[in-house]
Amino acid sequence: MTKIVSLPANVPENIISQKIRAGGQICRIAVDRSKCIGAGPCVAAAPGVFQLDEENLAYVVDPNSTDEDTIRLAAESCPVLAISLYDENDKTIFPED
Ligand code: SF4
Repeated sequence: MTKIVSLPANVPENIISQKIRAGGQICRIAVDRSKCIGAGPCVAAAPGVFQLDEENLAYVVDPNSTDEDTIRLAAESCPVLAISLYDENDKTIFPED
């Protein structure tokens, strides 16, 4: 049976920008905007998924716009580990412990 993934409740969107991804191992992408320094490599790696807002902070645009390897590369490119990836059980895929 496919688990229905939902966004955690009561997370302020101005601090955590997150979206659910359909299918695959990565089911939720979240950017901790309190950590983001606007460096931008996530946008360069996956511009369909991440963009910078007028405050120069990253947010999730379309989590389904590219493949999982590209999303993972984008998360790994963040110098402050502001991007987290979760599986269908809400277990953290990246960053690894
Ligand atoms: S790579 Fe990290 S610090 Fe840079 S814009 Fe993306 S989330 Fe922010």
